[in-house]
Amino acid sequence: MNKLRKAVFFDRDGVINKNRPDYVKTVEELEIFPYVAKSIKQLKKQGYLVVVITNQSAINRGLTDDDKVSEIHQTIQKHLLKHSSGIDAFYYCPHRPDENCVCRKPKPGLLLKASQELEIDLKSSWMIGDNESDIQAAESVGCKALKIRENFQLKHAVQSILNS
Ligand SMILES: [Mg+2]
Ligand SMILES: [Zn+2]
Repeated sequence: MNKLRKAVFFDRDGVINKNRPDYVKTVEELEIFPYVAKSIKQLKKQGYLVVVITNQSAINRGLTDDDKVSEIHQTIQKHLLKHSSGIDAFYYCPHRPDENCVCRKPKPGLLLKASQELEIDLKSSWMIGDNESDIQAAESVGCKALKIRENFQLKHAVQSILNS
C-alpha cells in the first residue's frame, strides 16, 4: 500500500512571479518575487510536494509557445535551486477559454492529473492562488485553498499552512 503524499499547489503568475496584464511570455518578462524560495523551502521541509498549476492561454493565443514557457519554468527552477529550494513539477494549461478544455482553472483537470501522477492526497493538500479560479479549482476537488491579496502575501499563506 502506497502512502499518498501531501502537496501545496502554487499558481504561477501573481504568486511566484509578478503578473503582467499582457501575460508573462518570455524569460525577460519574468520577475520572481523575493520570498518565494524561502517559502517553498519551508513547505518542503515539512514534507509537502510543491507543484505549479498554471493557466497559460498565451500559448494558444499565439503570444508565446511551449519552448518559451519551459524556459520560464527552468529559470524559476534554477533560481530556487540556487537557494536550496525547488518545484517538484510544473503543470500548465495552454488553452484559451473558448476551447472549453478540462484543464483550465477553475476546472480541476491539472490538479487531478498531478494527484494521480504524483500520488497526492488532495484532501490533505493546499492550493495558493491570487485568483478566484484557483480557489474554485481546488475546492471542487476537496483541496484546501488560500487566496493571496494585498495584506495576505505568499509568506503569510505559507505560514498558515505550516501552522495548520
Ligand atoms: Mg495568478
Ligand atoms: Zn486546458
